[in-house]
Amino acid sequence: MIATAPLRFYIKTFGCRLNQAESDSFTAQLASYGWHPVARDHQADVVIIHSCAITHTAEQEALRLCRRLTRLTPPPFIVLSGCVTAAASLNKLTASGASLIVNRTDRPNLAQLVLKACADLPSSCRTTVTPAPPRTRPLLQVQDGCNFFCNYCIVPHTRGGPISRPLTDCLAEASTLIANGAREIVVTGCNTACYQDGHYRLPQLIEALVNLPGLARLRLSSIEPGTVERDIADLMARYPLICRQLHLPLQSGDNTTLRSMGRRYTSEAFRESITYALGRVPDLGLGTDIITGFPGESEAHHANTRQLITDLPFSNLHVFPYSERQGTPAATMANQIAPELRKQRAAELIAIGQTKRHNFARSFIGKPVTTIIERFASDGTARGWSSSYLPCHVAGLQPAAINTLVSFTPTAVKDDTLIGLATAP
Ligand code: SF4
Repeated sequence: MIATAPLRFYIKTFGCRLNQAESDSFTAQLASYGWHPVARDHQADVVIIHSCAITHTAEQEALRLCRRLTRLTPPPFIVLSGCVTAAASLNKLTASGASLIVNRTDRPNLAQLVLKACADLPSSCRTTVTPAPPRTRPLLQVQDGCNFFCNYCIVPHTRGGPISRPLTDCLAEASTLIANGAREIVVTGCNTACYQDGHYRLPQLIEALVNLPGLARLRLSSIEPGTVERDIADLMARYPLICRQLHLPLQSGDNTTLRSMGRRYTSEAFRESITYALGRVPDLGLGTDIITGFPGESEAHHANTRQLITDLPFSNLHVFPYSERQGTPAATMANQIAPELRKQRAAELIAIGQTKRHNFARSFIGKPVTTIIERFASDGTARGWSSSYLPCHVAGLQPAAINTLVSFTPTAVKDDTLIGLATAP
C-alpha cells in the first residue's frame, strides 16, 4: 500500500556527488507518486537524510540533524539513509530519533520503503511551501562501491564492492535526461574507474554517452589515478563536448605516504599521467584532492607534496587535514600528526591552490569560452560554468538564454570567475 495523500518531502544530502545522484533518484521516484519536493526541512512531512560517513564530523552532522528535526512541532517522519547507517553503532542510530533507517542493501528500494512506512501518514498541509528547484546539471550514477581499500577510507566498508549499472541502463537514463531538457550531464560513481559491464569499461561508456543526440556537454567526476585517465584524455581530445576537466585525487605527492595510504600509484606515475593529459587537451582544468598530516607524514614528505602541487598546473585543489575515521587501518597507525600541524599544512597548500586557480582563470582572458546558462543573478548577469569548471558571469543575455550553450570572451577575472559579454550568435 502507498500513501493515500501526496506528501511533501525534503532530502538533505551530505557528502559526495554520488550521494547527490542517489538523492536525485529518490526525488524522481517519490515525485512519480505525486509527492512534492520542498526546499526547506520544516515544510516537509517527510525528511530523508542521506548521510555521509567519510569523517567522524560528517557522521555527527547527520545524526545532529536527525535530533534537531525530532524537536520540530510537529516533527516530520525522518528517514536516515546513506553511509552513516553502516558506520554508526545501532545505539547511536536508534538514539538519533529517525523513524526509518534504510541500510545499504535496502537503498535501491528506499522510495518503496518510505511510501509503505508513510501509507497512513496524513499530509500536515504546512503552509508557505517553496518548491525545490530542479538540478540544472543532472548527475548520472553509473556505478556504486569500491574495493581499493585505501587505508584512510571507510567507503569500501559502508558501500561495499563495485557494482556497475548495465551500459544500456545508463544510456536510457541519459536519453531521458536529455529528452527532459538536460544539456549537460555529470557522470558520477563511487569509483568510476571500476565501471564494467561485460567488456565495456568507463571509456566505452563515455564514448557511447557522447554520441547520444541532443547532448551539449558531458562532465566527468573524479577518476582514480593509475586507472583509465589516459584513455579519458584521449576521448577528450577526440570529443569536444566532453568538458575540459579532469579530477585525479592525488592525496599525497610523497611515495612513502602514498604507500602508507594504500594508494596504487607513485608521484612519478601521477606526474606522467598529468603531463600526458595536458599534452592531449589544451586548457584542461585539473583538479585534485590532498590529505595533509596523514600518520607518519614528515616535513620532508609534506615538502614533496608541496613541490608536486607547485610544479603541476592545478586549477582546483581540494585540501583536507587528515581526519581519523574509526574502523579504518589509518586510525590506529602509529605516528599520528598533531591536528594543529595537519591544519597548518593544509592552509599552506590551500593558499598555493588559490593562486593557481586565479592564474588559470586569468589564462582565459581574451579567449572564447562556452557556458551553459543556469540562472540570472540580481545584477542581470547570467551565471554558468565553463568547460574547464570555472564560474562564468556573462552580460548581455536575455532570460531565454537559460539552459542554452552560449559563447563569450572573458575580459576580466575576479578571483576565479570569468567575466565578459556574450558573443552575438
Ligand atoms: S579509491 Fe580509495 S579513497 Fe576512493 S573510495 Fe575507494 S577506498 Fe575510498
